Amino acid sequence: MGFKEISIVRTRQPVRLPSGNGYFFGGAKAGVLRIFLMAFLPLVVALFFVGCAGFGDYGTGAGAFDTVVLDAGHGAHDLGARSVRGEPEKMLALDVVLRMKPLLEDAGYRVVMTRDRDVFIPLETRAAISNRNRGAIFVSIHFNWAKKRSPEGIEIYYFSERSRRLAANILEESLRAYRCADRGVKFARFHVLRNNLRPSVLCELGFVSNPYDNQMLQNPRVRQRLAEAVVRGIIDERRGKSPRL
Ligand SMILES: [Zn+2]
Repeated sequence: MGFKEISIVRTRQPVRLPSGNGYFFGGAKAGVLRIFLMAFLPLVVALFFVGCAGFGDYGTGAGAFDTVVLDAGHGAHDLGARSVRGEPEKMLALDVVLRMKPLLEDAGYRVVMTRDRDVFIPLETRAAISNRNRGAIFVSIHFNWAKKRSPEGIEIYYFSERSRRLAANILEESLRAYRCADRGVKFARFHVLRNNLRPSVLCELGFVSNPYDNQMLQNPRVRQRLAEAVVRGIIDERRGKSPRL
């Protein structure tokens, strides 16, 4: 997916303390303001430290599941992102889910695929396939694109809070698949996540617009390592592992 399609809300916003401005201490209401700031500043600082303490705490997670709905992004006339060289996003995504399927089955999961070949599946259908599978999680595989060549790395998106730990578990494992940048776990209102009744994540496993990432992603051995990594993240989540990220 390209940057322009979506609005991203970063989950790791730095806490900005209000900067000291002499004006606020000077006027007629100086006393009230001083009291307000004295009460407010420690609160901000306290919240910052609570935030740090909670770092790595991803809540209850996705719970029990025995089915994985694998969703390869795009397909047919919808190429997804064009790579700087080689296969477009739709083919790379399909390749990764086809590699994931036997690994998940070996681990004892039932696997449902929204597509297993180069066909177009509307977004509503993808979410509907997930929604009719009880006891499932939904894992969508994509590759990223940006206008500039510099953006690189992996980011995993979630919408519902119970999907956040799954996203973090997948991110933690994926970052080991190839030397890549950690872009974090992010909240997004993507259609397939927003309309999904199951714990669901959308994995952007590198930028095909970045020459380094793309060179890696065009390599079938790297895609195999990515497939194995995402599956490990799913198994970690099922075991209730708390990511260290
Ligand atoms: Zn995409």
